[in-house]
Amino acid sequence: MFYIGCHLSCAKGFLAMEKNAEKIGATTFQFFTRNPRGGNARALDEKDIAAFLKRKEELSLGTLVAHAPYTLNGCSSEERVREFAVRTMTDDLERLEHIPGNYYNFHPGSHVGQGTEEGILQIIRMLNGILKPELHTTVLLETMAGKGSEVGGRFEELRTILDGVEYSEKMGVCLDTCHVWDGGYDIRDHLDEVLEEFDRVIGLSRLKAVHLNDSQNPLGARKDRHARIGEGHIGLEAMERIINHPALRELPFCLETPNELDGYAREIALLKSLRKESNN
Ligand code: FE
Ligand code: FE
Ligand code: ZN
Repeated sequence: MFYIGCHLSCAKGFLAMEKNAEKIGATTFQFFTRNPRGGNARALDEKDIAAFLKRKEELSLGTLVAHAPYTLNGCSSEERVREFAVRTMTDDLERLEHIPGNYYNFHPGSHVGQGTEEGILQIIRMLNGILKPELHTTVLLETMAGKGSEVGGRFEELRTILDGVEYSEKMGVCLDTCHVWDGGYDIRDHLDEVLEEFDRVIGLSRLKAVHLNDSQNPLGARKDRHARIGEGHIGLEAMERIINHPALRELPFCLETPNELDGYAREIALLKSLRKESNN
């Protein structure tokens, strides 16, 4: 099964997202748990969730990816910001228990001058305060472009976080193709080597989802500006290799390209046309 989808607006609830997914031919999707730049979450509507879960089954949608707000920063130098991160992640994970078995992806954070080592320690501390064995959601660290003081631009940093988390089995990694490219991992011309490195440093069993984005910038630019599929420096041929790669092909792929719904529909159709039958 090819699980391909995109980021959808959560403004009208779960069932509305699912209808949009269906309309554009998506077999999975990603959504924000709340306003991406603020902190407010919608009240949960049980009827909406029940209808959504029923339809999700009927459509055989793949694992969904909830995305934490961008303002969540567990390694800020400001205590107020770190507390917001704990409160928000705790609340998000509680809410996601209503749709068990999906992913919660977050940006590890920006250490804003405290240094990567201290940033990593704070992220570990946050996760250890939040993760519980009874959770039904897998929490994903997103690979970052390494812009500014972002933590998570190197596979080693993600590995260190995973190693420090007590309930590490609740955690995985989401690979963002634009971010790793901007971070200096050449997935265009050396995809196999990059995935081998991922396997060596983190372990491919940790890889749970892919954010499929082209990049407006050259390899190693550390900029994090997404481009439409085939319109950036990674290019369409590399995208074709990525969606068909044996280590990646069963994962959910979520587009976060600059598009409205119709643009996403076109990209999904394009990617489906490039998908090859599996040989096993
Ligand atoms: Fe992200
Ligand atoms: Fe992403
Ligand atoms: Zn990005």
